[in-house]
Amino acid sequence: MATDAHNCTLEEYEQLVTALGAEPYRARQLFTWVHRKGASSWEEMTDLPRPLRSALAERLELSLPRVLRRAGSEDGMTMKYLLQLADGEQIEAVRMRYPEKERARERHTVCISSQAGCAMGCLFCATGQAGFGRNLTAGEMVGQVVAINKELQRAGRRVTHVVFMGMGEPLANSEAVFQTVRLLSHSLGLHLSLRRIAISTCGFVPGIQRLAAEGLPVRLAVSLHAADDELRNRLVPINRRHPLAELVSSLRYYQEMTGRRLTIAYTLIRGLNDSEQQARRLAALVQGLKVHFNLIPVNEVAETGFAPPSPARVQAFHQVLEAAGHPVTVRQTRGAGIAAACGQLRATASGRPRRGGQVESGVAGVSEGGR
Ligand code: SF4
Repeated sequence: MATDAHNCTLEEYEQLVTALGAEPYRARQLFTWVHRKGASSWEEMTDLPRPLRSALAERLELSLPRVLRRAGSEDGMTMKYLLQLADGEQIEAVRMRYPEKERARERHTVCISSQAGCAMGCLFCATGQAGFGRNLTAGEMVGQVVAINKELQRAGRRVTHVVFMGMGEPLANSEAVFQTVRLLSHSLGLHLSLRRIAISTCGFVPGIQRLAAEGLPVRLAVSLHAADDELRNRLVPINRRHPLAELVSSLRYYQEMTGRRLTIAYTLIRGLNDSEQQARRLAALVQGLKVHFNLIPVNEVAETGFAPPSPARVQAFHQVLEAAGHPVTVRQTRGAGIAAACGQLRATASGRPRRGGQVESGVAGVSEGGR
């Protein structure tokens, strides 16, 4: 079976082309065709000799994830994709546009999936409720970005930011995710700055430790949603394996190793985790850490009974954290009307029951501006 071309590093291309009797610089041309230009056929690669293209075609597969469905928000700022992988697994990706603001240029952020399904079982996540399928390869993750970048290129734009916040827990598939980061940031490919790539975790401690040791200066976002173990055990079940004390100590280790500020995502749910006392507890929990808080009032969803706090309560929560010395941003979820939570589009397409409605990994908190 042919190898997925999007899964290969430049070094692997070099080995391949030299084994085929071509000069090593052909590997660099090939890498740019595959990773930057998103070539979908060998005929396009007109600067490569025809015999080399034929030999490569026997060994490499060029296919990108197939778009089964698109769902766009009314304001045109968010587009959600249901994608099909080569083995038929369905995953989701989201593209978000952030218009030019003050001195910041227009941004195009792509939120990608790292697994088909997810084993973490977070309470208010459609993906978590549907269970785990399999890990994605680096090529399948790169393929999501390249496919969406091709769409943007047709409009004279390009992907500027990538967030691993779609389906799956990225740090439970860390080797492939780190490989994806290296491929996306390669200067002959999309050349994304590592600072424009964010990994979002629900608190998978072994993965946080691996990321700390890896030395990849990407941004790390951690979804907390609760400041005590009892509540967090219910909302984010991985907390039973890695309780808050262990999670926070891994974050301290991460910060010691990298010096980087962390983003803490906290979904505010009326009457559950939105009191000033919980805000004080949260501030105490992260004391000594350099963090930025993203507060995300939950979308009202009848199935879950969750509702957002009043603006006054959000403001009070905000003030407690700010008084403790932390920058805080209050964010709204994007595309609430387009099955925006992670796993919802897939669940809708497959006719599976929807349980979620709000996310921490899908679209909510995806706004990367504060990170
Ligand atoms: S929120 Fe993220 S980590 Fe939790 S179940 Fe959903 S996809 Fe998995």
